[in-house]
Formats: sequence, structure tokens, C-alpha cells
Amino acid sequence: MKLKTFLPGDVTGKKVLVRVDFNVPVSEGKVADSTRICAHLPTLRALKAAGAKVALVSHLGRPKGKRDLKYSLEPVGAELSKITGWNVRFVPECIGTEVERAVSEWGNEVLLLENVRFHPEEEKNDREFAEKLAENFDIFVMDAFSAAHRAHSSTRAVADVIPSFAGLLIAKETDMLGAVRDDPKKPFVLILGGSKVSDKIAVIENLMKKVDTILIGGGMAFTFFKAMGLEIGTSLCEADKIDFARKMLTEAEKIGVKLLLPSDVLAADEFKADSPCSLVTPDAIPNGKMGLDIGPETIKAFTDVILSSRTILWNGPMGVFEMPAFSKGTEAIAQAMSKATEMGAFTVVGGGDSAAAIAQFGYEDQVSHVSTGGGASLEFFEGKILPGIEPYIIKEH
Ligand code: AMP
Repeated sequence: MKLKTFLPGDVTGKKVLVRVDFNVPVSEGKVADSTRICAHLPTLRALKAAGAKVALVSHLGRPKGKRDLKYSLEPVGAELSKITGWNVRFVPECIGTEVERAVSEWGNEVLLLENVRFHPEEEKNDREFAEKLAENFDIFVMDAFSAAHRAHSSTRAVADVIPSFAGLLIAKETDMLGAVRDDPKKPFVLILGGSKVSDKIAVIENLMKKVDTILIGGGMAFTFFKAMGLEIGTSLCEADKIDFARKMLTEAEKIGVKLLLPSDVLAADEFKADSPCSLVTPDAIPNGKMGLDIGPETIKAFTDVILSSRTILWNGPMGVFEMPAFSKGTEAIAQAMSKATEMGAFTVVGGGDSAAAIAQFGYEDQVSHVSTGGGASLEFFEGKILPGIEPYIIKEH
């Protein structure tokens, strides 16, 4: 998928408004994790190098259309300045006279506008609000991949108001995720985990015909076990997705896709970091116990598939990786992804919890790509055209 990105000549001397995703954790007035800020630096550096004046607009948290300073972007401005050494001017509004004034006084500083979600119109994709956002600028650049699955004024409507381009982060995400979704080198393995089958149904349906193998771990495996008629104790189960799981098991067999489930699980008495636990096979989960991680036999089987694949897409942890006792399965998959990359495979980690997991185990720089978008990457793999990307797609004839 080719996107309309900006060339230096498009932005030189122009006032450019960039939609970033600076929705970072803030604790006691300080940014606790700057990964999301850093993801935008290639775009911001390219714009500055081309001689553009750069203003940034973002959301942070869910202020629900009201001005709530708990969700102010001011601390993020300080962090951006610390990371880059740039002079960052925080503007305490994203529309109106405050912005007008900052623009009229604009030197070479980067402007960071206040949280766009302080306005209820934003999440309604309101055109008039988009016009107000754009009125002081010449060009709009959409760089917030992780917000691109939402049609909001600052992610979608604004593109209809002033000349607009995709940023380098969006271009990189669509290149990387698109290579997996649209042109995977075989063998292609999809690894799914996490708590819910429901979040991943559409991904399974869309990729089923393209993959050679699907590895399923995490809480979602137990809905599949239930569909096979096994007793799963108090493990996670989505009762209304049992039929879907059964259908997928049949479909995989019919079209020759290997669908592997755990052959051993770590079953605990309680959902607690220090709960007593034991290794069991899925057909012998004791009454009252819950499976919280995959076991060593499964790790070995999953690792073997990963190491013999050329394209690997991973979304969802294999267990409750936040608790050390139940993190080994997820860590082993992260390690296998890194080893497969070393061996030449193309390895992509979906955003959200899987991105947090690979970073927790220190392998985030040892895979081909870690997506910055949780919900956005899922929707991308479902085959949807994301509203925040759609205006920039160059149609091939
Ligand atoms: P998701 O948002 O669906 O990707 O799920 C991520 C969450 O699933 C993480 O917080 C994990 O702790 C949780 N998880 C993974 N495996 C299990 C499991 N076997 N039982 C309960 N929670 C799990």
C-alpha cells in the first residue's frame, strides 16, 4: 500500500500541523514512558530539516470532551524538549485565540497544542471543529498510526480541510504491517494470545487463508479447549465464542492450516502472583484451577514452528506476563521471535500488550517491527481501511 507522504518541497517554509499520538503515561507531572514520543521523531526531524514550522496536536487519556488538566499535554512538551533539545512552546488550547497568538509570534520553536479531546466535537469527527484546528496552518500531516482507526476531527476530518500528507511513522507502519498482511513469505505463522478471543476473531478470519500455522496461547486458548469438549476449571472462557472456536478448528482442518493449542499449561489456584500452581495437560485441568501460562512442552513446540517460519506475526501474550511466575511462555516467544529475526525471518509484533511484553523482556530492538498501534494494528490485520489512513492511499491502476 503506497501512501502520499510529504517531500521537503511540500513543507519548506510552511506552517505544518502534525497529528501525533502523545497519549503517554504521566505520573506526578512527569512522562513515565516516552516510547510513543520517540516514534514520531523521524517525521518531526524530517519536517524541521525541510524548513517547516512544526505544531503538534494530540489526545491524552479520555477527558470525555471536557477540559480536565489531569489530561494536560504540558508535561509531554517538557519531555519532548528534554529528548530532542528543541525549544517547545506549550499552547494551552488547540483552537482559537491562544493558537492564533502563538502562531503570530512563531519563531523556530515547536508548538505543542493542548489535548484535542478537551473538545466534544473531536470524537464526533466534526468538520467545523477540524476547520478551527486547521485555520492557522498551511499543511496537515497525519502521523498517529495508533489513533488512525478512529475517525475523529484531528485524525480524519482535518484531511478534507487543508492539503494533507501521511507522516513517516504511518508510512512505516503500513509498509511493515502491509508486508505481513498482503504479501507474506511462506511459511507464515500467526501467534495469538491475550485474554479475549472476541478481539481477534476478525483477524483470524481475514488471515486464515494466508497462514500455514496458527499458534494459540494465553487466556483465549481455553475457549478453544472448551469447544473441544474439555473441562477448563476456572480458566478464562468466552461462552458466546465457543461456537466460533469450534468453527475455526473445523475450518483450519478443512483448508490444511495447522492450528496448534498448548499441550501443557501452568494451572494456578488463584489469579495471584504467588498462587500455588502445577503443570497439567489441557485434558486434566483440575476443578477450580485456572490456566495462567503455557508450559515447557508447548514452548518447545511453538518455538520450533517459529524458527522454521519466514513470516511471523505475534499478537497477545501467552500468559499473565505481568506476574513473573506466569511470564515464561511470553518471554520464550519473545526470545524465539528475536532468534527467528536473526535467522532472516520477517517478524512483526502487534501493539498494545504484546509490545509491552516484548519491551519488558528486552527484545524490542531484535525483531523486524513492533507496531505502535494496538487497536489500529488489529483493525489493519482484519483487512479494514483505517479512516486516518484512507485519505493518503495512492490508488494503483
Ligand atoms: P489482550 O488485551 O486480549 O491482548 O490480553 C492481554 C492480557 O491477557 C494480559 O494482561 C495478560 O495478563 C492476559 N492473559 C494472558 N493469558 C492469560 C490467561 N491464561 N488467563 C488470564 N489472563 C491472561
